[in-house]
Amino acid sequence: MGLGRSGLAAARALMAGGARVMAWDDNADRRAAAADAGIPVVDLADAGTDWTGVRVVAWSPGIPHSFPSVHPVAERARAAGAALVCDIELLVGAQPCSFYIGVTGTNGKSTTTSLIGHILRAAGQAPQVGGNLGTSALDLETVDAFGTYVLELSSYQLELTPSLVCDVAVLLNITPDHLDRHGGMEGYIAAKRRIFDGVVPPRTVCIGLDDTVCRNMHAEMTRYGSRSLIPFATGRAVPGGVSAKDGVLIDDTEGKGQRVLDLNGLTALSGEHNWQNAAAAYAACRARGVGSEVIAEALKTFPGLPHRHETVATIDGVLFINDSKATNAEAAEKAIVCHEDIYWIVGGLPKEGGIASLTPHFDRIVHAYLIGAAAKDFSVVLDAEEVPFSLCGTLEAAVDLAFQHALEDEEEDPVILLSPACASFDQFPNFEARGEAFKALVADLAAEVAVSD
Ligand code: ADP
Repeated sequence: MGLGRSGLAAARALMAGGARVMAWDDNADRRAAAADAGIPVVDLADAGTDWTGVRVVAWSPGIPHSFPSVHPVAERARAAGAALVCDIELLVGAQPCSFYIGVTGTNGKSTTTSLIGHILRAAGQAPQVGGNLGTSALDLETVDAFGTYVLELSSYQLELTPSLVCDVAVLLNITPDHLDRHGGMEGYIAAKRRIFDGVVPPRTVCIGLDDTVCRNMHAEMTRYGSRSLIPFATGRAVPGGVSAKDGVLIDDTEGKGQRVLDLNGLTALSGEHNWQNAAAAYAACRARGVGSEVIAEALKTFPGLPHRHETVATIDGVLFINDSKATNAEAAEKAIVCHEDIYWIVGGLPKEGGIASLTPHFDRIVHAYLIGAAAKDFSVVLDAEEVPFSLCGTLEAAVDLAFQHALEDEEEDPVILLSPACASFDQFPNFEARGEAFKALVADLAAEVAVSD
């Protein structure tokens, strides 16, 4: 069910494994593309479809199945006694003996997953890295008997992956997100917990201590003992764990308080949030047997990921930053606190809570440029806080106006920051397309400026 990238990979893998496959998607274009690729398309929601012998439904995690309403295909699956699972579950079934490093959390998953992959490669290993980011689980290559899968796991995937037992489970942080899909905060926390609440506990749990929900989980695990636990934090020293207070990475897992590296000055890991990602990746790679010095060297060479506080260009003294991946207020906050003189492009499809939590940082915003469906609602919040704003509608109009304003800026370092605090789906297929559109607009500006010079 669901014929996007991961669904197509699942259909192909199941067919290659000899399963009889029936595939469906609510979107006619995707159905047609799948049929063209030789995948049998059958209307699973249709009452006339025979479900006899259907054992599992490989469900694309992006499609809501239970909240806010039950999807008709999920209803039919339950009636037929077929389990709803995602592609990660199928991978684990096919490769039960591999070493699994799973990474979840509200924010920082992709950065941490890529960073772990980067460090393991620097250590001479050949991990397969993907899942929720990059390559879907069933398009990854098969690893050898001692090989490692480093998987980014969303809450949607975790609730559809009953038998995954991570060798190393990394839980970065938990703040409210995707609440509509999980029926509220409790459901969301329960889904995240799945990374270590399996039939068998993971070998090692690396857990962040910077937010209350994760801190409480850590306290609970410590009370019950028995698991190998590596806590990590940026806000404090962590006895028995890994800390990155003020950007200085300290490993106390052996009780020696060993200073590993000063992360200050590493552009791809700038900001306290990235120190959390670095501490998490360090903990996970130590648990996979990589030496401290090797990790320190690899952290220095991490190139960073596109669309996450990505420096695009400086034009006539105006810095352009693409943080399209900031799809909620917490993520946007991380970019905003890095700058003082911000021309902020914000909006899209709003998340619960909107931008209200960002008001303490509004003194950094010179002017806001509102785009997408959230524009009206966000303008009310900005107006109440006396932040100047313009209703721009499109990204193109926002970039043009922001550049005009920033050029007139008398201050030292004007920054045009695309950090939308919203999903992109009202105007773009995904956050990558939004970020690419921003980069293309900036490239056009650069070309225009070069011509007029
Ligand atoms: P995810 O895959 O969980 O969405 P990413 O690594 O892609 O996370 O980062 C997305 C955005 O979230 C970044 O641009 C940054 O603004 C913010 N971010 C990254 N790491 C963290 C973190 N550890 N805590 C809070 N926010 C973070």
